[in-house]
Amino acid sequence: MKMRIGYGYDSHEFKPGVPLVIGGVRLEHTHGLAGHSDGDVLLHAITDALLGAVAVGDIGSFFPPSDPRWKGADSAIFLREALRQIALAGFRVVNVDTTMILAAPKIVPHAEKLRARVADLLQVPKNCVGIKAKTPEGTGTDHAAIAHAVVLLEAVDDDSLLEAVEAEAEVGSSLPASLRPKVEPN
Ligand code: MG
Repeated sequence: MKMRIGYGYDSHEFKPGVPLVIGGVRLEHTHGLAGHSDGDVLLHAITDALLGAVAVGDIGSFFPPSDPRWKGADSAIFLREALRQIALAGFRVVNVDTTMILAAPKIVPHAEKLRARVADLLQVPKNCVGIKAKTPEGTGTDHAAIAHAVVLLEAVDDDSLLEAVEAEAEVGSSLPASLRPKVEPN
C-alpha cells in the first residue's frame, strides 16, 4: 500500500488578553497565543505535517501572514485546506500523533476534548489521534507553546474522498467563498 509520512512543527508566544485556542478548543487561561490567526499552535503543526506529507509547501505558502484575510482566522480553515490538498494528491489520513511543549495550562485534563475535536476535523476515529504534552524542563521556553506533529497517510483511488472534503469545506468554512484561498494542485 502506498503511504506517506509528514512532520510539522510550530511555536507561538503567550500573550495576555487573548483567548487560548489549542486543537480547535478554547481553553481557560490567563494568556492566549500571539499570532496573525487565532494562534492555534497544534492545528498549525498538524496542517504543516499534512502539507509536508504530500510535499506541497507549508502553511505560510498557502496562507501568508501578510494577508489580512487571515487576521484572527479560525485555524480549522488552514487544516481543511491541507486535507483538501492531500485528497487532491490521492491520500487520506491514517493517524496523527502530536506532542506539545508548554508550561501551562495542563493539557491532560483537556486531552480528550482536544482528541475529539482534532479527530472530527481530520475525519478519523478518536483512537487515531495522539495528544501529548510536556513541560519545557530546562529549555527556557515557558513564554511559548510549541507543537510537533507527525501524520501517516495512505493512498486512495476513489474520487468520493475529495468530494467529501470539498463538501465539508463548504459547510464548515466560516469564510465566504469569495475569500477562500484558491490553490491549484501541483
Ligand atoms: Mg503558527
